[in-house]
Amino acid sequence: MCTDTIKDDKNLFFQKNGVKLLKFRIFEQYNDKLVHCFTTRIGGVSTGECESLNLGFKRRDSRENVIENYKRVCSALDINIEDIVLSDQVHDKKIKTVYESDRGKGILKNSDIIGVDGLITNKKNIALVTFYADCVPVYIFDTGKTAIGLAHSGWKGTLKEIAREMVEKMHAEYGSRPSDMKAVIGPSIGKCCFEVGDEVVDAFLTGIPWSKSFISKNDGEKWKIDLKAVVKKTLMNSGVLEENIEVSNICTKCCKSIFFSYRGDEGKTGSLAAIMQLK
Ligand SMILES: [Zn+2]
Repeated sequence: MCTDTIKDDKNLFFQKNGVKLLKFRIFEQYNDKLVHCFTTRIGGVSTGECESLNLGFKRRDSRENVIENYKRVCSALDINIEDIVLSDQVHDKKIKTVYESDRGKGILKNSDIIGVDGLITNKKNIALVTFYADCVPVYIFDTGKTAIGLAHSGWKGTLKEIAREMVEKMHAEYGSRPSDMKAVIGPSIGKCCFEVGDEVVDAFLTGIPWSKSFISKNDGEKWKIDLKAVVKKTLMNSGVLEENIEVSNICTKCCKSIFFSYRGDEGKTGSLAAIMQLK
């Protein structure tokens, strides 16, 4: 099942010095302006549950390993480790505007970026990084004002409509128009595997009633939510055009041999990263 998905020609995997990364078709025409990727678990130095390309400092891994993994990813993307800025995710909807002075925060220097699930910038040569292991990565590139944003949309962030928050923040900060935005909803847990309890279903039906059409249940099974579809609808409700949204067909739990999956690895796993930088 996963093998077929991975081989889908929609999925642009590339490998450099052993590091395997994924790019998205919708951004390919902007290669002169934009660096982007979603990482896999392949090509790093970490061992055990973080084998091998863990990019999270909060996982059970050594700092040395994580830094080496970043160096390898930076080399593959041709970006500088000094330019990286990390989020500090708490499953909320706060988005931070990132400036030149933020470079290195969370990786090479101490960070005052606390409780932030999304990062935006219109500055060049700042690499935004957010983290995942089943949650939904949301990428936005504003082709009009040339600005970028990344948001971590787990089920809580999805319920809080963090994707809408990012669209609105980019509009407020940069004058970005939703109709100029190209968006990606990246690899994350699919509806096939995202089983939830009644309390989560109730929270969605109360918080965003229109999400009802993305929640279903077969006889004798648990409820399942299509988080990627909910995030896509949130972007469309915010003015992003459907034809400008690419939704990855990869389920991280089904494809846990390639991607870290919190549910697939029963919590003992590493962190994947979404990375975006203007150049
Ligand atoms: Zn799945």
